[in-house]
Amino acid sequence: MLFSKERKDADLIVLPYWKGKSQAEKASAFKDFDDAAKAPIAAGDFKGEEAEVMLLYPTKGKLEKRVLLVGLGNKDNISLEVCRRAYAAVVKTSLKNKWKEINVVVPEVKGILEGVCEGLSLANYAFSKMKKEPASLLTKIALLGIDQKGLALCKRISTISSAVNFARDLVNSNADEITPQALAKCAKDLEKEFSKVKVTVFGKKEIEKHKMGLLLAVSRASRHDPAFIVIEYQGNPSSKKRSAFVGKGITYDTGGLNIKPTGAMETMKCDMAGAAAVLGTLRAAAALDLKTNIVGVIAATENAISADAYKPGDVYISYLGTSVEIDNTDAEGRLVLADALAYTEEHLKPSCMIDLATLTGAIVIALGEEITGLFSNDDPLADALRESGERTHERLWRLPVYQEYRDLLKSSIADIKNAGGRKAGSITAAIFLKEFVKKTPWAHLDIAGTAYPAELKHYQPTHATGVGVRLLIDYLENNG
Ligand SMILES: [Zn+2]
Repeated sequence: MLFSKERKDADLIVLPYWKGKSQAEKASAFKDFDDAAKAPIAAGDFKGEEAEVMLLYPTKGKLEKRVLLVGLGNKDNISLEVCRRAYAAVVKTSLKNKWKEINVVVPEVKGILEGVCEGLSLANYAFSKMKKEPASLLTKIALLGIDQKGLALCKRISTISSAVNFARDLVNSNADEITPQALAKCAKDLEKEFSKVKVTVFGKKEIEKHKMGLLLAVSRASRHDPAFIVIEYQGNPSSKKRSAFVGKGITYDTGGLNIKPTGAMETMKCDMAGAAAVLGTLRAAAALDLKTNIVGVIAATENAISADAYKPGDVYISYLGTSVEIDNTDAEGRLVLADALAYTEEHLKPSCMIDLATLTGAIVIALGEEITGLFSNDDPLADALRESGERTHERLWRLPVYQEYRDLLKSSIADIKNAGGRKAGSITAAIFLKEFVKKTPWAHLDIAGTAYPAELKHYQPTHATGVGVRLLIDYLENNG
């Protein structure tokens, strides 16, 4: 594990400070470097602002070569998120200088250790396997001032952060590498690693046998077969309750015959971020040995172009028997999810279904890259997810699924069409999905803005954020 609680020789020691009334004030009783910090604080050069850092070189020999002051802002405004950002700044400074081992004096305030650990472990990530020089990462972090219970909490955070990083790796990797078969292999690897995980993979033949007509339509132009992946985790066999997490797994989205223009396609290896979140969540849940039951479902295919591509204007029959006119082949995510949700409800009988999908550009216009769109047919489920979003800072904002907009999806030749134009684009996508859910409490998370934002910041050092993993683990721990 990355974390320990014993102070040893290290490249750096990190000391926490509040932004005081007139000058920065210590946020711990740790005294070893008081004299080194005195002058820059008295001069007002280090103020203790949120995520402010200042590097110092102590004159007296101690275990550490360097001192880094880190600011936490006003004591009254301290939160988990302030800690995540402040300690992410510590990691950023360390990685830039290629330091490997650091000692961190934990601020003496209740209930923030989780945020400190999350900032440290989520920022300690790079995706450098395609570079000549691999990135330097921290290998040891000693948290000074924590007890055995605190260390157990750090271990838990470390496990969850590893699963987030696993999801980030899947999204950051080449689409040529992360094919539907590669996602299926990831699931199979979970089955090998954890005895409570059971995996079933449908290849093209089984998908045909199960008449998943929409998944098949989307997959037609790809040289990789589609895969339908079911990952069952039984952590509480005596309970009938189980949560289903359904991930959109479009391993590359060209848009299909309605091909995306330059400027809109370059990030489209991220269109399987929903699937990555499902795999990451299952990995974390199994590693934490959560006492709950989960089924993860992934509908995986490329949306490619070729002479075999499915066509705008044609009608395809879904798993549920609903006929769908293709208005736009770039609205493919909702097609594969429609088959996945309907199959999940009918065969896997979950107590709730939550789908995660980089579904619409419209959600980025509505909510930007900080907030995931939430849609649901069930208020308690939506509320529980929103609360998890606040705690993890993977925040959700609920939008309506009003039936008035169902008219935008009317087709003269089929039961429904797959796109309803520019108006309320994220809502019509959710309304489309809702057609394929009969009665199970369901929530749809549109992560198109949050899974692969343009801006890198805080504890998100690459475009792939791994969004969804921390959110769903929090949800399970409070509701599973
Ligand atoms: Zn698309």
